[in-house]
Amino acid sequence: MTHGNDAPHSLGFDTLAIHAGQEPDPVTGAVVPPIYAVSTYKQDGVGGLRGGYEYSRSANPTRDALQECLAALEHGTRGMAFASGLAAEDTLLRTVCKPGDHVVIPNDAYGGTYRLFSQVLRRWGVEYTPAPLGDLDAVRAAIRPETTLVWCETPTNPLLNIGDIEALAELAHGAGALLAVDNTFASSYLQQPLTLGADVVVHSTTKYAGGHSDVVGGALVIGDPELAERLAYHQNAMGAVAGPFDSWLTLRGLKTLGIRMERHSDNAERIVEFLSGHPKVTSVLYPGLLEHPGHDVAAKQMRRFGGMVSFRVRGGEEEAVAICDRTRLFTLAESLGGVESLIEHPGRMTHASAAGSPLEVPADLVRLSVGIETVDDLLADLERALG
Ligand SMILES: *Cc1c(COP(=O)(O)O)cnc(C)c1O
Repeated sequence: MTHGNDAPHSLGFDTLAIHAGQEPDPVTGAVVPPIYAVSTYKQDGVGGLRGGYEYSRSANPTRDALQECLAALEHGTRGMAFASGLAAEDTLLRTVCKPGDHVVIPNDAYGGTYRLFSQVLRRWGVEYTPAPLGDLDAVRAAIRPETTLVWCETPTNPLLNIGDIEALAELAHGAGALLAVDNTFASSYLQQPLTLGADVVVHSTTKYAGGHSDVVGGALVIGDPELAERLAYHQNAMGAVAGPFDSWLTLRGLKTLGIRMERHSDNAERIVEFLSGHPKVTSVLYPGLLEHPGHDVAAKQMRRFGGMVSFRVRGGEEEAVAICDRTRLFTLAESLGGVESLIEHPGRMTHASAAGSPLEVPADLVRLSVGIETVDDLLADLERALG
């Protein structure tokens, strides 16, 4: 989107979220990009494409609108929308890695990401080493001559550990590798990894970007045009694209991302304060806490600290599971980032696939996705559930 001579990036985040890629429809004037539920486009003579559209796996106007918006929000040159976060990851990995390559991954990566490496990419001949990304010496030691990619997730799911994006980019680039950052937990509003030196940003747009627990999707945003070109080729060649209705829902969600993240952060801060003083809670994991080991880095690279809060409880796995069963407003469910508050037990739910691996999570851990409800109601619910 351009207004006169203004570069789009001179506009504020919320303006871009509402307008980037979303010019009124040139034919009807529709203020919101329509859902182009169409697979193919009439050609005016062989090869005579009207709007550049030919077949919707290759390009679709609704998906294009979303992709342009995603690129603007992350200050990238190109955004790509996929059928899920894992589809985006798979397309990225099989574009930038080849059999024989090696990747450094967080030792507390999202369970599905770990499974993609351990069960799929590995059989394809890509090796990986889990390392604590908060420890730069450990990351340096994990890098090999064949390392083509460092995979960063910050904050991590579900332990809320922090990686220093700027420092990791420098480390990766020094070793001739790329840095990918899974920005799902922070969202584009709280953190913009490309501006800190990352090469690719990954999102599960299922989470904060969509924001209403009504759509599954993924995204990649890239800075370097040559890398973007290679990825766009693979997006089409591998075909894991977002459909037009899913793209429309995600674009609708993005419009309120900024105000939602402010409220998620406000509510999470109040809940962290409550949990920190509760006798049943042994520790609270939240990068906004001064005593969090990644606090200074998080404060440097994030606008605020977000809506995800994990905590460990006295009484072990049994008590952690019981708390998850006792909340009423916090719905017991996987996923995160929606307007409604969710609670889960990572060990038995989202991270069950990491059991017995180096990425196993503590059994006494509870994860909250703090929603945007009235915070006093959320506090009362937790107070009752903790007993
Ligand atoms: C959910 C999630 C993914 C996977 O995304 P899907 O949309 O479920 O495929 C990747 N990374 C993180 C951090 C996630 O929370």
